[in-house]
This record gives sequence, C-alpha cells and structure tokens, in this order.
Amino acid sequence: MTESPKTDLAALDLEGLAAFLKTLGEPKYRAGQIFRWIHRRGVTDVAMMTDLSKALREKLSARAFVGAMSIARVERAADGTRKYALRTKKGDVVEAVFIPDASAEGRNTLCISSQVGCAIDCKFCLTASLGLLRNLEAHEIVEQITRVKEDLGTLVDPEAGPPIQNIVMMGMGEPLQNYSNVVSALKMISSQDCHNISPRRITVSTSGLAPRIPRLGNDVSVNLAVSLNATTDAVRDRIMPINKKYNIEQVLDACRAFPMKQRQRITFEYVLLADENDSDADARRLVKLLEGIPAKVNVIPFNEHPYSPFKRPSAERIESFQRIVADSGVAVFVRTPRGDDISAACGQLGAEVDAPRKMLRIVD
Ligand code: SAH
Repeated sequence: MTESPKTDLAALDLEGLAAFLKTLGEPKYRAGQIFRWIHRRGVTDVAMMTDLSKALREKLSARAFVGAMSIARVERAADGTRKYALRTKKGDVVEAVFIPDASAEGRNTLCISSQVGCAIDCKFCLTASLGLLRNLEAHEIVEQITRVKEDLGTLVDPEAGPPIQNIVMMGMGEPLQNYSNVVSALKMISSQDCHNISPRRITVSTSGLAPRIPRLGNDVSVNLAVSLNATTDAVRDRIMPINKKYNIEQVLDACRAFPMKQRQRITFEYVLLADENDSDADARRLVKLLEGIPAKVNVIPFNEHPYSPFKRPSAERIESFQRIVADSGVAVFVRTPRGDDISAACGQLGAEVDAPRKMLRIVD
C-alpha cells in the first residue's frame, strides 16, 4: 500500500485547516491555533506547537508538514537596506526588500513580490526580462514578511530588532494579475492571527489593470499606487505595452473610482527615463492629468540595468521635472535609490532568478 502524500499545513487557509483537522477527528478551533503558529510565529516544525497535545503533534507529524521558504541570500546595503532572495518550496526564487527609514518617523518598509517574474513587459523593468514564471500563492506572498521578520529577530520578540510598519507590494510581479491570491494575502497580512498590519499601512502598486483598480479598493482598504510613467499614450504604449489595453484615460478613470478615505491619496509612480518621458512639457502634462485626483507623485530616476536601453536623466533634468510638479501644488518626492549598491532599488529585482532572460526592446 502506498502512503498518501503529506499535507502542507502552511498552504491551507483557516477553513482548509479546519477541514483537514476534521479528518483527524479534531475540533475546529485547533485550526486557529495551528494557523497562528505558522503565520504569526513562523513555526515550521509541528513539534514546536506546544499548545497541542503530544498525541496530536505526533498525529500531525505523521500526516502533515509545514512547507516553508528558505532565505537563499541576504544582501546588506550601506544604507541599511536588505535584499532577501527567498527560495520557495517549489524551488524558485522571489525577492523582498527591507527598507529602513532613517527619518525621525522611523517607519520601516518591506517591499514584497506577488509573482515570480512578470508578464506585463514594461521596457525599463528588470523583472520583465524574465517573463512570467508563475503566480505566488497567498501564503507565499505572506511568508515573505514572516521570513524577513524572523531574520530581523522580530518574529517572536517585536522589540528585538527593527520593526516592519509598512508593506508595499512593489516587488516582482503585477499584483492585480494575481488578483485572488493577492487579496487573500492582504487580508491575511492584516489579520490578528497573522501579521496584524493595518490595511492603511499597506500599499499595492499596479501597472494599471484598470478594471481591477476599483475592485481592489472595494475588497480591501489598502492604499493604491499606480505606475503611470508617461503623460501621453504614444509614449506609454512604447514603454508599457499594457497601455494598449488600458490607456492613460482609462487608468485615471479607474483611479477616480477607487474608494478613498479622507486625507488618503493615490501615489503615482513616475520612472524618469532620459529623453523619453522627462521633459518640462511632460511635467506640465502630468500635473494636468492628475487634476481633481487626490494624488502624490513619486519620481523614480531610472535605475539602469543591462537588459534595458534606457538611461537615467541628469540631476538637473530630474530637479527641473520635480520643480514644475511641486510648483503646481502636487506633492512630489524624488525617490533616492535605496540599496542600489546591492541592486535592491526599484526595477532591479529578479536578478537572482536563475532563468533565461530577454532584452527589453521597444518594437514600434
Ligand atoms: N507591477 C507593479 C508592481 C511593481 S512596482 C507596478 O508596475 O506598479 C515597481 C515600480 O518600480 C514601478 O513603479 C515601476 O515603474 C518601477 N520601476 C521598474 N523598473 C524600474 C527601473 N529600472 N528604475 C526605476 N524604477 C523602476
């Protein structure tokens, strides 16, 4: 007789755990206990679940296990940024970046991934050179936080190391293309049984899958960031082919339909590419486009990499662009590249993934 394969407890949600426990003749409330061990405390060994009887732990060990990601590599930048390459149970690698805040506010951010690779094919983004390898499952999205907290020492003792206050889904992948897993993950991340991080401290960034933008806001009250990156459809079509499906107007209309709380703002990311989208006229058009939308702009000077032909504009160009936006009254921040000495900056994720790559050529 062949033995049936063991069940991965980490891959089950609360209902799934309850159903599995039922097959062992165990009551439903045990599901919550096990869920908290795995997703709040990061335990990967059933034997350590000490509020379960020894007999149950033995039964569980015989029938189940806790699948986990491992940290394949951590790189530490001079500015304190840490880039984590996490190997999933399936053997592929995703990246998460811990970005400490040096300001008085001291709010640290973890940037997490939603897919292995990405299908959107933006012509400036290193992740795009991989294509889409697969969607991450909800628990794999969440576990990036768990494993990083473990490494920082804050998983069991929140005082032991730098805390993670903010989550940004700005790593590898297009979150809204992996919609149901992302929404489940967001709900999990804010649940008390897991990381207990308020949705107001979570930001989801999208390349602009317009129909899913209002839907996201109705499903979870997270913050929205949109990678606009251009002010005309002609340019956006070239650098972000998704624009041919959902153009600037459709994306902005979707933003207007995103449910917003008072004082909440939508972040518009704008990668500055030399001689492509960085003119003064672009800055003025950007301001016009955002009229009537509670917005702030994050200008991200292009982080160069070998798979894309683009260049970073000069410091003067960046400043001129920023000044025009700021003078119009729109809040604008220039993102100084964090951890660029370890390729942890925006658009530099995916270097660790051992898969064939393609050059990101623009074909008109
Ligand atoms: N797919 C989502 C999540 C990724 S967020 C999205 O597009 O929003 C990653 C951010 O980094 C995006 O705003 C993207 O425009 C930006 N980016 C990508 N490659 C970059 C690069 N090489 N330099 C600077 N910013 C980059």
